[in-house]
Amino acid sequence: MKQRLTNWGGFPYKNCEVFIPENYESVVHLVRQHKGTIARGNGRCYGDASLAPVVIQSDRLNQVLSFDSQTGIIQCQSGVLLSDILELIVPQGFFLPVSPGTKFITVGGAFASDIHGKNHHKEGVFSDHVLSITLVNANGEMIAVEQGEDLFCQTAGGMGATGFILELTIRLKKIETSFIKQSSIRARNLQEIFHLFEKYQDATYSVAWIDCLAKGSEIGKSVLLIGEHALSNEVKEKNTLQVHHQPKWRVPFFFPSWFLNPIFIRIFNKLYYARPSANKKDQFVHYDSFFYPLDAVHHWNKIYGRRGFVQYQFVVPMNVSYEVIQQVLTILAEHEMGSFLAVLKLFGDAHQHRYLHFPMKGYTLALDIPITKKLWRVLDQLDDIVTNAGGKIYLTKDARLKKNHFEQQYLQLLNKEPTFQSYQMSRLQQDHQNVFLILGASSDIALETARLYLNRYKDAHLILASRNTAQLELFVKENGFQSRATVKYFDARDINGHHAFITSLHAKPTWVLYASGLLVENDVAQKGIDEWKDAVNVNYLGAVSVIETLLNHENGSDLERVMGISSIAGLRGRKANYMYGSTKAAFHAYLFGLRQSLHERGIVVQAITPGFVVTKMTAHLSVPGNAVLAKTVAESIVMHSSKRFEIYPNLYWRIIGKLVKILPEFIIAKI
Ligand SMILES: Cc1cc2nc3c(=O)[nH]c(=O)nc-3n(C[C@H](O)[C@H](O)[C@H](O)COP(=O)(O)OP(=O)(O)OC[C@H]3O[C@@H](n4cnc5c(N)ncnc54)[C@H](O)[C@@H]3O)c2cc1C
Repeated sequence: MKQRLTNWGGFPYKNCEVFIPENYESVVHLVRQHKGTIARGNGRCYGDASLAPVVIQSDRLNQVLSFDSQTGIIQCQSGVLLSDILELIVPQGFFLPVSPGTKFITVGGAFASDIHGKNHHKEGVFSDHVLSITLVNANGEMIAVEQGEDLFCQTAGGMGATGFILELTIRLKKIETSFIKQSSIRARNLQEIFHLFEKYQDATYSVAWIDCLAKGSEIGKSVLLIGEHALSNEVKEKNTLQVHHQPKWRVPFFFPSWFLNPIFIRIFNKLYYARPSANKKDQFVHYDSFFYPLDAVHHWNKIYGRRGFVQYQFVVPMNVSYEVIQQVLTILAEHEMGSFLAVLKLFGDAHQHRYLHFPMKGYTLALDIPITKKLWRVLDQLDDIVTNAGGKIYLTKDARLKKNHFEQQYLQLLNKEPTFQSYQMSRLQQDHQNVFLILGASSDIALETARLYLNRYKDAHLILASRNTAQLELFVKENGFQSRATVKYFDARDINGHHAFITSLHAKPTWVLYASGLLVENDVAQKGIDEWKDAVNVNYLGAVSVIETLLNHENGSDLERVMGISSIAGLRGRKANYMYGSTKAAFHAYLFGLRQSLHERGIVVQAITPGFVVTKMTAHLSVPGNAVLAKTVAESIVMHSSKRFEIYPNLYWRIIGKLVKILPEFIIAKI
């Protein structure tokens, strides 16, 4: 089933072919049949870690296979949710050895991300409590893997890259009650909270909520929460082993994106810090409110609006933790990048020789931040700080880390076996995040667009394609774009060659502009089919062929914007140029339909509709006073952020475009 999928942060959305196998044989079959697959649990990772062109979901592999209430050893399939395990084990006096901030994740997902909880400094990561797993590897073989084996270490925290986990055997933790003895302690600043973490380092569970908008001497203002499993003689409840209830509340719709603004977050933070329970010792609370407070409301992620949010979580070594966290909080407060969920935790020793292992001895800070335009720039800056300090970004929360930082942070990379490859992993192996493919790149409009694009987007890459590669090479050299642009041969009329051309692209484009065009005068075109066939091929057939090929190819999977150079002449037939105009009209109508069809995939389609442009194509015509320069059209392509269909170079041509569509025929005939 084709689906437009996203994970918890609502960014990014990707097109995926989704399979939900019911048994192990189907998993094996799917792995053997498809390349570029990834396993998906409950989609509670924030970014693109469990998205790929082909997704194998574990929903129906959700059976607990055995549970020994003497030893606390449970064997279950990978799609079982932690919430289901809790329902079974808590009444029998057991608990999860490591628990994240939500119980709605699968055990497969817990192992693949090798999750940590509030007890990492004492009890390590999830995989420390897993005795064995069964995995379908890249060759479609089912293998049993014991703790300590090399494949076990690669798969724990391996983000699904080594295979599809079918089963796990986990050792649970004994508890006397389902309650937690919790204490909250206020800290006025970062110094105080670091001091408190040190003081309470023997507490089993510890975590701090931080007010990340606090500035100056209040930076790091926070509330530390510590907890222990309550003993049976400490709890007054009749049933001391109660399980959690199902959430009563749900957010029914996406909130407007302005809702979580700095003023709202500042008020929330003040109230949260000031509430009496923020400084209270030895309260007895149920595990559900201690570990999973956010689970009380279904779909709380919708309050971040349709644009979504990212969770930025990093860890830095102990000796630099204070300085780095202070620096990060200062930058976030300066930019008013608030998060009402900002969490600081202490990590214990790290595993050595694990491939994508996240934790290290030091502090980890996690912040939920709504997506805004400036967010990416600020987070790139934070990545520099974290990487230079020897820290890492948590991949299960990531949707935007770049290759250079990833490689510096995770020195021991997994082998790049392509069978299990999420969109996240292909992104992290790609040199460029923004790739602009310009087809018919030797036109004046295309060259101006290329220049403007690279000047505007410093980390972007261009693929310039046309028949005149010599001219493109010269352009690249003259502008000093050698390391940022690639030249390729492309002939719009060679329809049979389009598949090979798209396959040969070395990077997946995020934008594509079809700029090839052939102007044919009416009197020439009217002489016979040979005179205008080329115009049909270049202006319409070639355009549709290459765009469709890209859209249906793996190399088209990162597309965000498809643009074609249309023309005012294509809006309505006019006797002066209807032969040329009709080729543009066909392309215009194609783009309009394509826009509707790609809406679901989140791809924006636009018709660049210039009026008369001064270019070499129009050099032989007399230039009217309302003509625009190629540079002006290029600006309308690169600088605009609107999603509207027709993009005009200026207001004058916008009005002309609208008039052409509505004027009565007798007026049009006179133009
Ligand atoms: C509110 C909230 C709080 C969180 N708190 C924490 C926390 O405190 N600590 C922490 O460490 N994480 C935390 N997380 C992150 C979450 O625990 C991880 O992202 C977890 O991996 C999600 O599991 P999932 O079943 O939803 O898997 P998905 O999100 O679907 O997948 C996550 C990763 O696991 C892989 N995977 C899933 N199933 C399998 C399988 N069967 N075989 C192989 N690979 C598989 C995927 O390929 C992907 O790489 C939190 C997330 C949320 C939403």
